[in-house]
Amino acid sequence: MRWRNTPTERINVDPIVSEPPKPGSVAFEDSDISRAALHVARVTRSLFNGRRPHGTGADVIVSVRAAGVFGFVLSLCACSAPGPTTPPEPPVRAMRGVKIYTSPDAVPIDDGVVVLRGGRIVAAGPRDARSDRVPALAPQCDGGVVVAGFQNSHVHLIGSAFANARTAPAAALQNGLVNLLTRYGFTTAFDIASDRDNTLALRERVNRGEVKGPRLLTAGLPLFPPQGLPSYLEGLSPSFLARLPQPETAASARATVRQNLDAGADATKLFLVTPQRGRGLKHMPPDIAAAAAAETHARGKLVFAHPTDLDGLRAALRAQVDILAHPPLGTPGPWPAQLLAQLRAAGVHMVPTLKLLRFELAKEQVPAAQAERIVEDNVHEFGRFVAAGGKVLFGTDVDYMADTDPTEEYELMARAGMGAMQILASLTTAPAERWHEAQQRGRLAPGMDADLVVLDGDPAGSVRHFADVRCTVRGGDVIFAK
Ligand SMILES: [Zn+2]
Repeated sequence: MRWRNTPTERINVDPIVSEPPKPGSVAFEDSDISRAALHVARVTRSLFNGRRPHGTGADVIVSVRAAGVFGFVLSLCACSAPGPTTPPEPPVRAMRGVKIYTSPDAVPIDDGVVVLRGGRIVAAGPRDARSDRVPALAPQCDGGVVVAGFQNSHVHLIGSAFANARTAPAAALQNGLVNLLTRYGFTTAFDIASDRDNTLALRERVNRGEVKGPRLLTAGLPLFPPQGLPSYLEGLSPSFLARLPQPETAASARATVRQNLDAGADATKLFLVTPQRGRGLKHMPPDIAAAAAAETHARGKLVFAHPTDLDGLRAALRAQVDILAHPPLGTPGPWPAQLLAQLRAAGVHMVPTLKLLRFELAKEQVPAAQAERIVEDNVHEFGRFVAAGGKVLFGTDVDYMADTDPTEEYELMARAGMGAMQILASLTTAPAERWHEAQQRGRLAPGMDADLVVLDGDPAGSVRHFADVRCTVRGGDVIFAK
């Protein structure tokens, strides 16, 4: 860092006023900002832990003590002078909360503030006199419980709201995304099988800023066993069904994966076991599954699998898939402990989709009392996977399931034994780590993407509050406000 003043002078800098630095005030070169943010992150973390920071200059400690964390942080941000060639920096904005969970494993902050600049978080910590002078990002969003933006790791962008995404009115598409995702706090969503080109067109319109929405990732067109489309897709249009790949050899599976990723997909989805109407189950041959997974991994992407049953879990392990799109829902317990241990050891993540089971049982007209026993049993079995250290990514299987409200899913996860902070991790830090983006998102810390959710209640009191969303912010932009 190139300081242009002495430590004692720095304390007096007014952090709020955005004007060029006066002689003797703090000034950072642009390139210093990110390093400074990291530096502050260390100091902030130390303050939160109640410890004196290690490895930081004494001048910094003096400055933080005198000006408060936010005075210090904001002095970094407000005084960088735009030169003739650099565009002016966006202003700092604040989101104030009665409580802030910076991450699932950090002590929550009462009466805190998250300070944003552009698409990034500048600081998160207790409010003080200086941070109170930063204008609100959106006043109607202040006063809630603030957490990092959520990821839904199992959705399908297949509803009529997204039809003809290339040409449909932006407002209609945006409404569809609000109903499905943004009103529930999702700032990232993984579509794991849809009409790929339509989904890519939708993503393009979101990325252009024409449609406000979450970051959209997609597995594009999924792979099925040879002649093995599942009976539950019968309702889709014949022209769409005809486009679904059912490769018959390992070589054609590799070619299908390449084509899908080249077209813009971010992952591969394998239907390993598919029910056939009145004709039992079809299995994807192991060499085809392994080839598709290997080709995907060679491109640095992840593989989702739809397992259906215990054989599907074994097939997923053999093919080295990364994420199970469901547990083996409907399979009576006990699920073999050794199999669960192998999944855990292989680092395979599981998306619970527990509410889906109740939905499917109702569709099959299973009597309510019997259905409830099956749900109870599977919730218990999923809980064994979690208790043994299995990794979980939150996901709901909307828009396959028309009811988009995740409240029941949160309740079922809690019933499986997951605490509120474990559920928060499945929504935030776990997907960030799974996609190797833990330094970019998943927590509220300096330098992170300004993706955040404001809840109207504390999830520590009831996990139902995870669905009680007041505002959703993606990249510093309010994409939903109640
Ligand atoms: Zn699904």
